[in-house]
Amino acid sequence: MGNQLTTGQLALLEAALVQRQHQLDRRLAEHHTGMSRAEHAAEMLEQDNDDAPQRETERELDLALSDLETRELGEVSNALRRLHGGDYGLCADCGIEIPFDRLKVEPAALRCVACESRLENAAHRGA
Ligand SMILES: [Zn+2]
Repeated sequence: MGNQLTTGQLALLEAALVQRQHQLDRRLAEHHTGMSRAEHAAEMLEQDNDDAPQRETERELDLALSDLETRELGEVSNALRRLHGGDYGLCADCGIEIPFDRLKVEPAALRCVACESRLENAAHRGA
């Protein structure tokens, strides 16, 4: 056990993570099953329609959203695993305790604010 979170705080964060996990699960299932049969068949029929490029963009947007949700689902599952393993709430980069206030907003957070913003700055510079 590495952090100062109380049992009550951990229970709260775990509940939030589990809820988010179910939410993402459900949405990803909708993307996959919702699209595949009926809509795909309809799309085949409308393929030479004027709004085909528009539909293609929507499809791409949908896929990009699925990617994001898949990644977040991975982060949430990872956080739950760490929560059970006892190293939850410690910054993955510098190892300091992530404050409860930050975890409350972002229960799947891997890093403290300082490391997170350093990472984001690096990403913006294209590194
Ligand atoms: Zn850090």
